[in-house]
Amino acid sequence: MAFLDIQHLEKTFGSLRVVKDFNLGIEKGEFVSFLGPSGCGKTTVLRMVAGFETQTSGTIRIDGRDVTDLPANRRKIGMVFQAYALFPNLTVADNIGFGLKVAGEGKAQIARRVSEMLELIGLPQLGERYPFQLSGGQQQRVALARALAPRPQVLLLDEPLSALDAKIRISLREEIRRIQQELGITTIFVTHDQEEALSISDRIVVMHQGIADQVGTPFEIYNRPATRFVAEFVGTLNLVDADVVEAESGRVRFGEVPVALNRPLSARAGERISLALRPEIVALGRAEGHDVVLSGRIAEVHFLGSVIRIRVAVGGQILSLDTFNQPDRPPPVVGAPVEVSVSGRDLLVLAA
Ligand code: ATP
Repeated sequence: MAFLDIQHLEKTFGSLRVVKDFNLGIEKGEFVSFLGPSGCGKTTVLRMVAGFETQTSGTIRIDGRDVTDLPANRRKIGMVFQAYALFPNLTVADNIGFGLKVAGEGKAQIARRVSEMLELIGLPQLGERYPFQLSGGQQQRVALARALAPRPQVLLLDEPLSALDAKIRISLREEIRRIQQELGITTIFVTHDQEEALSISDRIVVMHQGIADQVGTPFEIYNRPATRFVAEFVGTLNLVDADVVEAESGRVRFGEVPVALNRPLSARAGERISLALRPEIVALGRAEGHDVVLSGRIAEVHFLGSVIRIRVAVGGQILSLDTFNQPDRPPPVVGAPVEVSVSGRDLLVLAA
């Protein structure tokens, strides 16, 4: 059995089923993100694991212990919320030591653990400050230290970075990952930000309407999305229509251009299917090894810094592609005729 084991978890609010037969095993030391749009049920699952919300049915086990009906304070979990939720009238040190004090630990022991935690979060000098004297990022570090101080078995993070600005979000997510790995603590991280989930997780659970659509490594989720929802929610995607010419060999037609997918298709000859392609697999011009070449016109150019996103009108459809910035080569101009190319085997055929 997995270290954190969730089976057949369900939650209904009135007549609304917000979590549907949710099953997941998380290994000890693993960092798993719940990723999904607002309202998909990710916070509700997290709150049931924490013990802040009662499940309608299902079981939750931690390290072999059935915690399903235990109150939150007996589950050995640590939690960090979106809003900092520090005690404003306590110093940083007292905030971090709070759980230990409640548990009845001695003064010297608490002091030692607090200074260890301050060291861990990189704020060794700030123990005597009050929360209002800290930046948002520092407050979240303290909230993390407070959650970790009592040595929980599982760490739960509910959108802990959402209230911070972009630069801090990135540095703090890397910091969270470093600390998590250093301690080897089993962690669930809830986010609606796909880049965040891709960058720090061992595995991602993509949630949609109360269901886990796909569970996989960031690489699998991005490159082998199991459903159309996952493909569209995670990363940017081109979806284009193609007509099946021969199903067995995977020959299709995109406009007038024949495309060899080189794998059998479940659709029949004459049927229309959707092909999905990530912007980075489409090349401007004819690239080596690309067997599909399409002619079009530049429709839009978005200079993003290191990457330039270009939209090309091809046969009545728009294809987005990404190229890297090259200082000695200005981006193409809107309206210019271009060729784009891809490799047929990189095209995904998605289930609806
Ligand atoms: P967000 O990112 O917006 O928090 P989420 O994916 O975490 O979204 P949940 O907060 O888990 O979603 O909510 C899932 C659904 O359950 C939503 O439709 C929400 O309105 C509903 N819901 C959550 N809590 C309650 C409650 N106490 N009573 C009734 N409905 C609720």
